[in-house]
Amino acid sequence: MVDDPLSSPGRSGLHWIRLLTEAYSWISSVAFLVQLLLIGIGPGRLVLAALVSSVLVSWVLWPKRDTWLVALVECAVVHGAVFVLPTPQPALGFVFAVTVRRALRGGRHERFPLRALPALLGFLTGFTAWVSVGSAAVTGPVVASVAMPLVGLGVVAMALHEAVRSATLVQDAHRTVEAVVRASPVGHVLLDAEGAPRLHNDRARELLAWPAREPGRVPCPHGPDITACTRGCRSADDAVEVRVTRADGSTGVLAVHAVPVQDVSEQHTLVTALDVSKRRELEDALRARAERDELTGLAGRTHFLHQVDGALLAGEAVGLLVIDLDGFKEVNDAEGHEAGDWYLVSAAERIGRAVGPVATAARLGGDEFAVLAPGHDVRESARLATRILSELARPLTGLGHETVIRASVGIAVSSAGVGTADLLRDADTAMYVAKREGGGRIRLFRPEMGERVLARQRDKADLRTAVSDGQLVLHYQPIVDLATSAAAGAEALVRWQRPGHGLLGPGEFIGLAEETGLIVPLGNKVLAGACEQAMRWREQGRELGVTVNVSTRQLSAAAFLPSLDRVLKTTGLPPERLTIEVTESVWADGAAMRGLMEVRETGVRVALDDFGTGYSSLSYLQRYPFDVVKIDRSFTGALSETSRTAGVVRCIIDLAEVLGAHTVAEGIETQAQADWLRNAGCAYAQGYLFGRPDLAENWTAQPSVPH
Ligand code: C2E
Ligand code: MG
Ligand code: MG
Repeated sequence: MVDDPLSSPGRSGLHWIRLLTEAYSWISSVAFLVQLLLIGIGPGRLVLAALVSSVLVSWVLWPKRDTWLVALVECAVVHGAVFVLPTPQPALGFVFAVTVRRALRGGRHERFPLRALPALLGFLTGFTAWVSVGSAAVTGPVVASVAMPLVGLGVVAMALHEAVRSATLVQDAHRTVEAVVRASPVGHVLLDAEGAPRLHNDRARELLAWPAREPGRVPCPHGPDITACTRGCRSADDAVEVRVTRADGSTGVLAVHAVPVQDVSEQHTLVTALDVSKRRELEDALRARAERDELTGLAGRTHFLHQVDGALLAGEAVGLLVIDLDGFKEVNDAEGHEAGDWYLVSAAERIGRAVGPVATAARLGGDEFAVLAPGHDVRESARLATRILSELARPLTGLGHETVIRASVGIAVSSAGVGTADLLRDADTAMYVAKREGGGRIRLFRPEMGERVLARQRDKADLRTAVSDGQLVLHYQPIVDLATSAAAGAEALVRWQRPGHGLLGPGEFIGLAEETGLIVPLGNKVLAGACEQAMRWREQGRELGVTVNVSTRQLSAAAFLPSLDRVLKTTGLPPERLTIEVTESVWADGAAMRGLMEVRETGVRVALDDFGTGYSSLSYLQRYPFDVVKIDRSFTGALSETSRTAGVVRCIIDLAEVLGAHTVAEGIETQAQADWLRNAGCAYAQGYLFGRPDLAENWTAQPSVPH
């Protein structure tokens, strides 16, 4: 601390008292020594002089040490001196010298009164002996001449000792405080009533970047001098943060805390300044992390929602776009997470570019992005969404092959009183509708969409219950041998006996089951039910093969083959009695296609359902063997109308034959259709003409012939 009122006068006062006392002790002792040598009598004086010298030598060698040995030597000297000198006064002078010196030197320990006693006793015993040998008459004045100085000496020495001891304690305490303040990583400044720094440590000087000689001012967030602050910085409970420029030009942040301190005479302010630059840096970095999405650098979810809050509070029209990438899961699964990340970053860049400075783009999580477009009405928001989709759709190279990013966009535009959560939910609902309609499109939120989404959520929950509670029912439709009109097999078609809704056809819930993944447990139930039924027919002597529809999503699941094996084992159905029906969409899914070929290796037959309606590709048909090709009922329905359809159907039948597959014509409703197909070489048929899908119990009347 500089300008320290405690240390300077205290320290120097004590110093002078010590110096004077030391001088007095030395002068008195040396005078005593000289007296011994010059006016002492007998050889004993030389011994005493030597002893006095040894005491003086000990003062030089160990100025701060006081031992019993020295005290005893003093006792002997004083006692003997009474006899070798003509009067006892010189010995008394020596007692004064050593006692006063001891009172000051031994300031810190408590042995002072005890150590002073030997010299005193030595003198008293010597004096008594001196008197008793008749050297002086025991008169009142003689005794008083010795007793009074001795009493005075005692009082003065004790007072000196106590004064020095207290001053030393204060000095020690001060030194400790000073050391603590000096070593403190916190800058301390004591301002006087005028705001001028009275005391400060080096750390304060360094932190506040004061010039070397004179102390400067303590700044606060509202100005360069905290004492001039009228906004409560001098009495704040918490520290305020102040940005300072250091001597080397760098900037730092200080936490400055000012508290009033009432001194004896005036009001001071104690200011502490702590360097919080590192903490602030870290906090800033964390905040930036929270504000930004780490992967894409776009705004993060929380920060984005705050921005939407702010825009809505400002009361202007706000367009909110929720963008979900289509097929991202497939990219991630097939190409790996690194490629997935790269795909997301590319999408983010493109969204950011399309949006420009007029709106804020954010990543809400996963493959979901959002855009806040302040001041955008429906038309402008839709235009922005179109821009985003076309920017995303530009060819993207980098995954080893060219690809495009498709996305579904939902738009919600704010209306009076709408909150952030509502707006986001609406945009999300619209996005969900866009996705359900096939993706790659933009949908504007309409209130009925919300109801549809809610209804869909209810359906989802009910379907889950249906799968677990046995509400699924299997109907069977005969597959007839056109040559004999006898049933060769049956296609299992699932229905949902939904409480309160009646019997629902698959068209009403298979899509939802596929979307939610419920198709896997649902498909397993159908598979097991159909195989059990085929076994039951077998036990009744009816050799009917069973055909089960399997969706692509089911096939691509790794667990499909094991569960198929398990069903065949538990039911005991020979694999060739089971046919799996898939649609042409299976060609678009590598995993499902591989799964299908594995199924075929087990001996289970594979049928291509609804042939001619999907991604019909002759090259696929050639590459991947199928046992059955099912001609879609749109062809059979149109047979009589145009000869062109008849030609196509004939082609399909011929092609299937070349590839070694049977043909099953679907949707036969008239005898004419059946006859035409039989003549065209189609082996099997299925349709209302032969029988509608029905419960197995109602099948007793159906014709049955060995397959
Ligand atoms: P699909 O496999 O092509 O099944 C034939 C559909 O045509 C059945 O409709 C059947 O009732 C109908 N149908 C049969 N004969 C005629 C006819 O002469 N005229 C007309 N107009 N229609 C006829 P359904 O039962 O509604 O099944 C529709 C689709 O649902 C099925 O088409 C199949 O793709 C799917 N599906 C049915 N059950 C399941 C299942 O368990 N799992 C999976 N993944 N899909 C299933
Ligand atoms: Mg089918
Ligand atoms: Mg079909």
